[in-house]
Amino acid sequence: MCGIVAYIGPKEAYPIILKGLKRLEYRGYDSSGVALLNDGLKVYKKKGRVADLEESLIGKDLHAHAGIGHTRWATHGEPSDRNAHPHSSASGRLAMIHNGIIENYTQLKNELIKKGYTFTSDTDTEVLLNFIEDIQTNNNCELEEAIRIALKRVVGAYVIVLLDRDHPDTIIAARKGSPLVIGIGKGEHFLASDASPIIEYTKEVVYVNDYELAIIKKDELVLKNLGNEKITPFVQKLDLELAALEKGGYDHFMLKEIFEQPDTIFDCLRGRLDLGNATITMAGVQNNIEQLRNAQRIIMIACGTSWHAGLVAEYVFEELCRIPVEVEYASEFRYRNPVVNKGDVIFAISQSGETADTIVAIEKAKDQGAFIFGVVNVVGSSIARISQAGAYSHAGPEIGVASTKAFTGQLVVLIMIALKIAFEKKTIDESRYVHLLNELHAVPEKVKEILLLDEHIKKLAKKYADAKDALYLGRGYNFPIALEGSLKLKEISYIPAAGYPAGEMKHGPIALVDESLPVIFVATKGTHHEKIISNIQEIKARKGKVIAVISEGDDVIQNLADDVIKMPEADELISPILNVIPLQLLAYYIGIAKGYDVDKPRNLAKSVTVE
Ligand code: GLU
Repeated sequence: MCGIVAYIGPKEAYPIILKGLKRLEYRGYDSSGVALLNDGLKVYKKKGRVADLEESLIGKDLHAHAGIGHTRWATHGEPSDRNAHPHSSASGRLAMIHNGIIENYTQLKNELIKKGYTFTSDTDTEVLLNFIEDIQTNNNCELEEAIRIALKRVVGAYVIVLLDRDHPDTIIAARKGSPLVIGIGKGEHFLASDASPIIEYTKEVVYVNDYELAIIKKDELVLKNLGNEKITPFVQKLDLELAALEKGGYDHFMLKEIFEQPDTIFDCLRGRLDLGNATITMAGVQNNIEQLRNAQRIIMIACGTSWHAGLVAEYVFEELCRIPVEVEYASEFRYRNPVVNKGDVIFAISQSGETADTIVAIEKAKDQGAFIFGVVNVVGSSIARISQAGAYSHAGPEIGVASTKAFTGQLVVLIMIALKIAFEKKTIDESRYVHLLNELHAVPEKVKEILLLDEHIKKLAKKYADAKDALYLGRGYNFPIALEGSLKLKEISYIPAAGYPAGEMKHGPIALVDESLPVIFVATKGTHHEKIISNIQEIKARKGKVIAVISEGDDVIQNLADDVIKMPEADELISPILNVIPLQLLAYYIGIAKGYDVDKPRNLAKSVTVE
């Protein structure tokens, strides 16, 4: 995910692009850059925030009537000046910005290297740009024709926007899978990832569709498909406020991020899970497979929500890989005198990759000879750099303080890693392996189904918003989801909530139960189903209110519980990814019902970079 802005017309391009990039900064903020066409092509880029770019350009001649700008969320190559966009082609004639991932970029890169190309960045973007230029040179064709030919070979998702030094009156853009809006002004055009950079100039917009190419001059917009046929642009009127646009029309980033999960999970699986060949491609795992397969012990080190992901992973890794797993709070681990051995593999789990306690904890473990594998969301972050190997969760920037999409991304990544190790270790039989790959593949569609329960969950939230406290219970793979559900409620609605393994209920928490206590059971079907039914009976016998997350068609619990949330069928190993989603929504809507600012809960910060 990243932010894209472009302008062509009579006004000065740079101030429009700069302002647009600031509006789009929520989409990515590890580096940014602009390319301006004025007496040649000038490219400026800088690691850091858009403000850092702005500062570095003070005093430069930025006069131009056409330009492109990008604020990056790195996927290929660490955040740095040289990996920032725009990228320049080998000849220096073309500049390009890109949002998305070119999955087959290694193959394309190898082809280009054989032809003598060299690369100045680690990005997939520079590969695609040179691939386009190479096609244009070999076929002696127009740039738009070269783009069409290139895109037919490209696997992945993209919006690309190009400037051509030799055609300063034209911007060319194309899209598949990532968003692109074109604003139509008077004798001018604007391009952006969402309409927020455009709205103050014009309300007339065209949303570019997948496999469409836009050839844009200041007073002309031509849309074509990849077959070179013209398409009539469908011009729409924007009637949204700026604030709503940045949140994609949602009231809060948290809700937007909850609803992004079908896409973020898809992005996390994309290019990794190949159902046809029954394979998982993860370079970080593959390149270190001996180390991982022979691990004497795995230690998950994390804080907060990421620690819950580690706890789910404990169940998954022990089941699939038969490797003993421990799950540690980073803040405890770093100050203990833990026994760490050479054969230990540490999984460092963190959204930001900057969590101070986790950084110190893994440095300590590394010093003692452990192998560090990072599972982080932010590319090039400190934990990504300290780790000896890793896998990104590809959830895109998470702005809401309460983690949602980053958590499901962590679960998906950890399950894929466990499956890959188990396959290599032969601790999983083929049919279960293939079954679980299919189950993972089906997750994005199932998440879409779950999100349709939004209205139902909103009603439940209103019903239970006045609760003085709450109890969350689950078993097995879903015990950590009970913890995560209770954490979400505490973070967003400030209702004291406790999460427990349902089997622990009788060892204490049952004393809390009375007719006013909501008890949320994560009770989809699985190995412990009969046991959890008994636990529900025990709560009902004491007049507690039971809200149960159940499998579709589970009449037994439906008849026992006060309220149910019905989930699509799923293997219980995969079910935590799904079951957490209604609990995220429940916490969100209870926070809203209580009138709190759910994106900025009191006393909390997004990434805890201090102890
Ligand atoms: N894959 C490209 C990169 O890593 C683009 C990422 C983005 O969408 O910002 O640079």
